[in-house]
This record gives sequence, C-alpha cells and structure tokens, in this order.
Amino acid sequence: MHQQPTAIHCSLTKARPQRQALAPGKVWLVGAGPGDADLLTVKALRAIEQADIIFYDQLVSAEIRALFPKGTPALYVGKSKNHHSIPQDDLNQLLVDQARAGLTVCRIKGGDPFVFGRGGEELLTLREAQIDAEVIPGITAASGCATYAGIPLTHRGVSQGCTLVTGHAEKSLDLNWQALAGLNHTLVFYMGVTKAGNISTNLVNAGLNPGTPVAVVENGCRKNQRVVTGRIDTLAQLVIDEAVQSPALIIVGEVVSLAEQLQPTDWLAFVQSDAPAHSLSA
Ligand code: SAH
Repeated sequence: MHQQPTAIHCSLTKARPQRQALAPGKVWLVGAGPGDADLLTVKALRAIEQADIIFYDQLVSAEIRALFPKGTPALYVGKSKNHHSIPQDDLNQLLVDQARAGLTVCRIKGGDPFVFGRGGEELLTLREAQIDAEVIPGITAASGCATYAGIPLTHRGVSQGCTLVTGHAEKSLDLNWQALAGLNHTLVFYMGVTKAGNISTNLVNAGLNPGTPVAVVENGCRKNQRVVTGRIDTLAQLVIDEAVQSPALIIVGEVVSLAEQLQPTDWLAFVQSDAPAHSLSA
C-alpha cells in the first residue's frame, strides 16, 4: 500500500518506501537557508531525503544540492534577474501535478520560503488544489548574512528593531521612505543591489543620517562571502567600486559598526566543500 506521509519520521538513511499505486502525494515547501549546508534544518534535510522529486531554485547553494540523493530527480526551476526560467503559475501547476501523480515533492528555495520567497503563493495554490502541503522554515538571508558578518540585527542600546524590505521593483521603489528613515533601527534590503542609488537617495532625503553605516554582504554564508562597508550616502558608489554581485544583502544601521568588536568567528572552517551539483536529469 502506498504510504502517505503526514510527517517525516524516518531516519536520514532509511530508503524511501516503494510506491505501488497512485495516490495524492505531498509537497514540502522547504527553506534551504542562505548557503552553508550546515545551516539546513534537520527537518529540511529529512524532506530532501524523503522526496521523490526535487525542484530547486538559484539560491540553493551547490553544497546543499550536493546533499540531494543521487537517485532523486532534481530540477532547476529558478529565477534570476530578468530571466524567469519557468513562470510562477506554471511552477505552481507543476507542484500540483506532481503531487496528484502521487509523488512526495520537495520544493526547496533559498532562505525562508515565506520571506520574499513566494512560498505563500505556492502554498495558496496547493491549498486551493487540496494538495497536502507543509512549509519548512529556513534561515533567512538577513539572519544568516548578518550573523556571519558579525552584525547583530538588534543590539540593546543601539537598535531596538529590524525591518526587512524588498528592493525589488520594476521601476522606482514605492516605499514609505519617511517611515523607514524615522524608525531609527536596522533596515535590511533584499534584492537591493541594482537599486542601491535609489535606496541611498531616498533614505537620506527622508532624513536618515548620511553617515549611517551600511554593510553589503555578497554571497553570505558561502565560501566566497564578501562583506563591504561604507556609509548610506555613498552606498551606490560602494556597490560600483566593489563590483558587488548578486546575491547580496544591504544592511543599514548603527549595528554594522559592531562587527569590528564582535569579530565573526571563523565559520568558514565549518563550511563543507562545494561538491559538484547533483545530476539534473528528470
Ligand atoms: N527567501 C529568501 C530571499 C529571496 S529574495 C530568504 O529568506 O533569504 C533574494 C534576495 O535575498 C537576494 O537578492 C539577496 O538580497 C538575498 N539573499 C539571499 N541569499 C543570500 C546570500 N546567501 N547572500 C546574500 N544575499 C542573499
């Protein structure tokens, strides 16, 4: 009989059960964290191990892809800037179809599925289609990148809060800059590198101290992590001078200055080697 898992109980090494009949499957929407495979949750790893098929996107690092079981088909469904390899609607439908075919699907994406990850949209589609689905949270880039850069997102007496903001916009950013500048706490911009000038100008015009420290974390929590720091008023020039590449996160706030004293630990020593990506054949 087909076993319909309602929770993942098997050990990481246990073989997947043989599926003998078509029955509704299940979709796991899995957060992979920012890159370091050691930051995967145990639950995420179990979902990877149990899946019949894996759909992953661009932010799922090579070292995490290396953990995909050799016999499990793993398909790239990622998006990169200006290039959507598969439209979101088609992807949603793909998840529904695979689950209806009786498969346990691992839809794994960078960071946390519910933080600028479109996990909510995918889950809505699955709920509407009455597919069994569950979200496994992951460490979001703000948390992973800040910590690996030695920057606490909040710090008593320095920053009493943190706001996560998207820098993604077709044209100019439509944000409440007055509110953001007035919060007097840490701001973290996802997808903000190409809009660095826009972010800088708007925040300073809205009253943020031009000398407010910023850090740009490129490839955070990966072997090639790079952190560059500067001031909010010269953020655009910093990004150009340092030729910052995606993925990168912009952290704005006085907490950035704490990195010098806090000195991030040598986490690279713990990062597993970048093994080649698992075979992508379906
Ligand atoms: N769901 C993801 C965010 C997806 S939006 C999460 O929770 O982290 C994509 C943006 O996230 C990138 O443009 C970048 O700003 C940020 N990001 C994701 N992973 C990153 C990494 N390893 N290093 C730096 N920035 C990262």
